[in-house]
Amino acid sequence: MPFVDATLRAEIDALAPELTTIRRDLHRHPELGFEEHRTGAVVRAWLERHGYTPRSCASTGVIADLHPGHPGKTIALRADLDCLPMPETTDLPYRSIHEGRAHKCGHDGHTAVLLGVAAILDRYRDRLPGNVRLLFQPAEEGVDGGGAKRMVAEGALDGVDEVYALHNWPGHPRGHIRVKPGPMLAQTHWLGITVHGVGGHGSQPQLCRDPIVAAAHIVVALQTVVARGLGYDGGAVVSVCRFSSGTTDNVVPATAELEGTVRTFAPEITELVLARIREVVHGTAAALGVRAELELEPGYPVVMNDPTCAHAVHRVATQVVGSGAVSDAGLPIAGGEDFAYMAQAVPGAFFFLGAGAPGRDTPGCHHPDFDFDDTIIPTGVAMFMGLVADRFGI
Ligand SMILES: [Zn+2]
Ligand SMILES: [Zn+2]
Repeated sequence: MPFVDATLRAEIDALAPELTTIRRDLHRHPELGFEEHRTGAVVRAWLERHGYTPRSCASTGVIADLHPGHPGKTIALRADLDCLPMPETTDLPYRSIHEGRAHKCGHDGHTAVLLGVAAILDRYRDRLPGNVRLLFQPAEEGVDGGGAKRMVAEGALDGVDEVYALHNWPGHPRGHIRVKPGPMLAQTHWLGITVHGVGGHGSQPQLCRDPIVAAAHIVVALQTVVARGLGYDGGAVVSVCRFSSGTTDNVVPATAELEGTVRTFAPEITELVLARIREVVHGTAAALGVRAELELEPGYPVVMNDPTCAHAVHRVATQVVGSGAVSDAGLPIAGGEDFAYMAQAVPGAFFFLGAGAPGRDTPGCHHPDFDFDDTIIPTGVAMFMGLVADRFGI
């Protein structure tokens, strides 16, 4: 008989209203990376109420073991705690009370899901022949290199055999699971370019080296890096997302600044793309008589799913959501995730839980109108419970 049976599902459904209340409370009180003090307190209180002894990790992170020191396997499950530095534009009754901070990636929902798992696991404590480690991670959204890296460095995965995480995704149908072995999310690089020209009077361009025109050429030339540098299956993204220069209408400025992002999925493609960017930027600058300063800083690595772990997620999803609702469609995604560091440390798998409402264009993660879909909380809890059972062979 499958572990995620009608009894377990009924238990999860009975808990869902309370988890929704917590999720909305977290939504009202969003906190940025490494500032998740209130969120951490909510998590700790819940864990203590359910028989755990939580401890701190990576500043504002929280860890709890179901069976500390158990000689059997340890399976780790991760949720992220932080919000984004962006405004809340919705008029939800539980909208953010903090100006410029909002849960627009659904980490409030991920936290609620893992709290649900904690409560259900507590009831099955005696049936589990090993340990489950719950990782409530701070700072996924890119503060100081990410909270996952720091958690790994501080030993959060010591003694862990496998680690799993989920992310809601409005681009996939509600309740569907998306998973595959290998790359799930991209290697990110920050791209920064400063074009140094020669400024002067707007009426005397012949005496200047216009950095705006040169930077514009660089932006256009960068479009060839993927389109002309890689074949049909290249799989990379180069986006210039900021272009700033100048102060007024009649002065040719001395500099122009560009900022952007590069996304790749394989080391050889990364190398090729970065090499082409260097050539294009410096070559274009030289052709136009200006100098370009180029910085390419690596961000999160590729989230690489271990084949065994990814197959386990697929198997469990078939049981929990049905075989028609699990696939690898739309993967990998060019977003970045610091779960990559956890999946580098031990075998692991990351999967998406669809949150797209039927028949409407649901705002995606990081969209100002985004809100976590509470109706997927039970599926998230059931997926993690199913994974625990699968990995313990019960
Ligand atoms: Zn995000
Ligand atoms: Zn996220």
